[in-house]
Amino acid sequence: MKILLVSPEVAPYAKTGGLADVAGSLPQALRRLGHDVRVMLPCFQSIQRGGFALRKSRKSVEIPVAGQERKGLLRQTTLEGVTVYFIENQEFFDREGLYGTPAGDYADNAERFGFFCRAVLAFLRRLDFRPDVIHLNDWQTGLIPVLLRTELRNDPFYASMGTLLTIHNLGYQGLFPATVLESLDLPPSLFTMEALEYYGQISFLKGGIVYADKINTVSPTYRDEILTPAMGIGFDGILRARQQDVSGILNGLDSKQWDPSIDTALPTNYSAANLQGKKSNKRALQKSLGLDTQAKGPLVAMVTRLDTQKGLDIVEGAWQDMLQRDLQFVLLGSGEKVHTDRFARLQKDAPGRSYIHLGFDDGLARRIYAGSDLFLMPSLYEPCGLGQLIALRYGSLPLVRRTGGLADTVHDPADDPQRANGFVFDEPTPAALLAALDRALALYGDRRSWLRLVKRGMAQDFSWTRSAQDYLQLYHRAQETRHG
Ligand code: ADP
Repeated sequence: MKILLVSPEVAPYAKTGGLADVAGSLPQALRRLGHDVRVMLPCFQSIQRGGFALRKSRKSVEIPVAGQERKGLLRQTTLEGVTVYFIENQEFFDREGLYGTPAGDYADNAERFGFFCRAVLAFLRRLDFRPDVIHLNDWQTGLIPVLLRTELRNDPFYASMGTLLTIHNLGYQGLFPATVLESLDLPPSLFTMEALEYYGQISFLKGGIVYADKINTVSPTYRDEILTPAMGIGFDGILRARQQDVSGILNGLDSKQWDPSIDTALPTNYSAANLQGKKSNKRALQKSLGLDTQAKGPLVAMVTRLDTQKGLDIVEGAWQDMLQRDLQFVLLGSGEKVHTDRFARLQKDAPGRSYIHLGFDDGLARRIYAGSDLFLMPSLYEPCGLGQLIALRYGSLPLVRRTGGLADTVHDPADDPQRANGFVFDEPTPAALLAALDRALALYGDRRSWLRLVKRGMAQDFSWTRSAQDYLQLYHRAQETRHG
C-alpha cells in the first residue's frame, strides 16, 4: 500500500509532545510490514538548524495566501528507509517555535498551516506520488480532507485517495476567525454548520472530522470519552455525527528509541534482569540535581508539557502534603508561563528534596525516567500518553488518573492484582492523588512486591507491531470508502 503520513511534528525533527513520537515511529513499523510510506512536515527553523542532512529538491509550488503567491520548496531525507519530505517557506516556518512563543500562538497560524495543507497536495502532483491513503494528524492537517472533497473532488489525480484523520488531542481545535477562509482561498460556502463553522469561527479540526473518510484517536478509552459532552470539549456532537467512523488505537512506543539497556543518555544501562543499574541511575540523578543520595524514600518524577491538561493544579494543591512524605520530587517541564512561574515558586519550598527544571531536555528526561521510582501523570484527560509507557519500560511505576490511555495501560493492585503495574486514582483532587501516593509508598516499603510490579512493567510489549496492523486495517477501510 502507498501511504502518506502528514504531521506538523515528526521525531526526531520537530517535537513538542507525543504526536511527534507517533509520527516518527509508526511509518517505520509500516515500512517493516512492506508498505511504501512517506512522511511530510513543515521545515521549521529547528530542523534547518538541527544538523540533519537534508537534500534540496528542485521542485517547488506556488500557493496563494492572503492574495500573494507564496513559494513552497522541498527538502528530503530518509529515516530508516522512510522518505521524509520537508516543506519549506522561510516566512511561515523559519521561526523559533512550532506554533508560537511562551506568550501565545503565532497570529498567522491559519495561514501557516493552510499554506502547509495546500502545499502537501500540490507537491504530491509535482512528485507524481499518488498515495492510496493520506494519514492526517491533528488540526494542522485538517484542511487536506476539506480540499480533497471540495475543490479537488473531480480531479482524477486525487479522487481515489482515502483519508484517515487521527486526533491526538481534542483540546487543540485550530479555531480561527471566519475571515481566514478568504485568505486561504476557500469558498464562503464552507462557513456552515455542516462544514467548518464552529460558533461563529471556523475550525480546521472540524473540517478534518467532517471530510475525512475515517477518524481515530489514540486509545480506546479516549475514543469513548470524546463522544460524551463531559469530555468532548464542544466537539462531541460533531464526532457523534460520525460515530460509526470513529475508532481508537493505542499508540505504540518505539522500542529501540526507548530502551534502558541501550539508551546512550544514561550513565548506566540496565534491564529487568539487572536492576542494580537502575539504582546507579537514581544515585547519579540525585547527585546531578543536588538531592540527598542517602534518602530512603522513592524518587517521584514528572516529565511533562506544563499545560492545565496534565493535572498540574492537582499537584500544586497536593504539594505541601507531598513534601510531608518521605520522598523526593523531580519535575522536568516546559510550556505555559502561569505554570512555569508557579513551579519556580514551589521549588523554593523544598531545597534538597525537590528539583524543578523548566525547559525541554530529552537527555534529562531519559535520565529521569531511569532514575525515578514513581512517575506521576495526574492528567485531567490523556488521549494516550507516552510518558507512562516510557516510565514502565524504564522501571518507574506510573501513578496516574484513570482517564483515556492511562486507564487503558496502567492497572492498580487494588483493581487487578494479576496485571498490576502502577497506581490509579479517579477523582481529580489532591486528596485522591495523595491517597494513591500513600498506597504507592506503602508498597515501596515492601521491596519484593515493588520489584514484581517493576519487572512486570518492564516486560510489557507496547511496541508498534500490533497497532501498525490496526492502522493498516483502518487505511484499507478509508480506501474502500473511496471506491464505494
Ligand atoms: P503529550 O503528547 O500530551 O505532551 P505524551 O505523554 O503523549 O504527552 O508525550 C510526551 C512526550 O514528550 C514524552 O516522550 C515525554 O518524555 C516528552 N516530554 C514532555 N515534556 C518534556 C520536556 N520538558 N523535556 C523532554 N521531553 C519531554
